[in-house]
Order: sequence, then C-alpha cells, then structure tokens
Amino acid sequence: MVDIRNKTFVLEARGFERTFGIFLGWFLAAGFGCTAQTPEESAPSGTKQSSDSVRFERYAADLQFVAEPRPPGSAHWKRVQDKCAAVFEDSGFAVERQGYGTGVNVIGTKMGTVRPDESVIISAHYDSVENCPGADDNASGVAGVLEAARALSSQNHQRTLKVACWDEEEFLRHRPLIGSWEYAERAHKRGEEIAAVYVLEMIGFMSEEVGSQEIPPGLDILFPEQAKQVVDNQNRADFISILGNTPTKDTLDAFSRAANELSLRSVSLYLTLQPVFFIDLIRSDHASFWLHNYPAVVISDSANFRNPNYHCVDGRVDDVASLNLPFAVRVVRATVATATASLNPS
Ligand SMILES: [Zn+2]
Repeated sequence: MVDIRNKTFVLEARGFERTFGIFLGWFLAAGFGCTAQTPEESAPSGTKQSSDSVRFERYAADLQFVAEPRPPGSAHWKRVQDKCAAVFEDSGFAVERQGYGTGVNVIGTKMGTVRPDESVIISAHYDSVENCPGADDNASGVAGVLEAARALSSQNHQRTLKVACWDEEEFLRHRPLIGSWEYAERAHKRGEEIAAVYVLEMIGFMSEEVGSQEIPPGLDILFPEQAKQVVDNQNRADFISILGNTPTKDTLDAFSRAANELSLRSVSLYLTLQPVFFIDLIRSDHASFWLHNYPAVVISDSANFRNPNYHCVDGRVDDVASLNLPFAVRVVRATVATATASLNPS
C-alpha cells in the first residue's frame, strides 16, 4: 500500500496527460454504496473445490520467504520476482516478464476454454519500501497470489486466468503504482478485455481488540453504513475490506458470500458515479485499472488504519510474527472462490 499523503504525482492515460494533484484529492467517479451480506444465498459455483485447494502450509512458507526488504533492484526483489515466475511456471502458466525500463512485472497466463479473449487477473505488488520486511505490505498479498495460482490452475476455466506480481507499487521514485500502470496502459492500448481484476494489498493483519480499527477520514460520509458496521463492532480490526468500482457489484456480492461461508468478516465498499475527493481509496494497484476503465477490486486489511507496523515507521517492524495467518488464508480462500465465479460466468 502506497503512502501518498503530502505527495503529488502525474499519471498519464490514453494518449493525453492527466495531472492529478493527489494532495488536493482526486476526481474519481465514486459514491455511496453498501453491499449487504446475504448469507442465505449460495456461494458461487466451484467455491468449495477451489477454496479447499488453498493450502495453509504453502501460504505460510511463501510469506516467510518473501518477507524481507525488497526495494526495486535489490537482491531479494530479484529473488521474489524469480519466485513468482517459478511458481507460475510450475503451475502450468505461460510466464511473461514485462520489463518496462525501471521495473519488471511477472505475469502468468492460462488460457480460457470458452472465452479466451476475456481475462480475470489476480495480482499483488511484490516490491517493498526500503529497510522493511513488508510482511503485511505486501508479502501477504504475493503469497496469496502464488497460492491462488496453484489452487486455480488445476481446473479449466471459461475465461483466461492471469496471475501477476506487480513491481514498483510503492512511492520510491517520482510516482507510485508504476508496474500495474504499465500493464493496464499496455492492455488498454491493445484493446484487451479484462472482466475482473483482483488486487491483494495487505491481507494479513487483524485484531479483535476493541478500538484496533481506525476509520479513514471521510469514510463515514462516503460509506455511512460500513462505518457504522465498524463502530457497532467497537472498532475491532477483525474484518477484511473489499473495494470496487462501478462494474464490480457482482464481484463484491460474491466475495461477501464466500467470506460468510468461511466465517470471515468482510466489509464491502462499492463505488458508483458520484464525484469525491478521497485519496485513501486509490492507494494501490487497482487505481491503475480504474483509470483505464477496467473493473477492479482491492482486498485489504486497511494498512495504516489498523497495522501500527505499516512501512516500519517509528522503529516498528512489519514482520510475519505480527500477522494472523489463518485470517490471511481465509482471505485467499474467499478470493479464490470469488475468482472462480468470475472465471466461469455462465
Ligand atoms: Zn506499502
């Protein structure tokens, strides 16, 4: 999760330059929304099979491996890049390393059997800030993508499945979200059809302590029902959040149902078409896809709004010991179950 507070940067899209002064906010089509949980509805087809394929031990081992400092260009950054490629290849994906000058995205592709031109992407950024193991940010997401790749590769799907490790999400040079932006920009130029993008961004920190969850400023105005949900639960940081833009309502609903089946508390944030100034909704790679008019969701524990170790500030350490692995694995299972539905729409 990038820290863009008090920073400005420029994003370019579709042949003309759009300058977003992030310090002023963002003209994002967004608005009010609430995805009520509907436990009485059945989970998406394939939920159980795909969820059951997710293995705790593999997730834990990958998390441990990734969770060392890995700023772009570092030795461990390269090791993690290679790990993504190796796991994707071993799982039967065609692997591409998308080099774009300053960084490298790793992308695995498994072609769909019925709708090969439509893709579903499950992704996470693999870089970290300097001098920080980045266990939650974002080894937890990378390990989730690796395990989702394994779990979903054993079945054929109607749509093409892509799994991706994005580079340079953090604000390390002149701007953040570089790797995912390069991919989304290229996909847009090629006219690629993307049915759904899943971004796993910090999925391992949780707490059941009263008062452990802060509410981002303005969220209570934008999403009053969800803010109330958190307050009614005495601000416990015991849920996972999922945030999506306009075409992702079905994805959010499916995720809620899958989470319910797994006894995972979730809060859904659905953006519709109202203008808003709210920087905390665009702090990860989903924003790269939103700005190219692709449907994308970000699944997150909310970063600094609950995790005091975020970016290893004040001498604290974002390490594996501070995470709740059973929680993270349930998030991966819910993601895999939901993605199974995205991959097989009919
Ligand atoms: Zn971060």
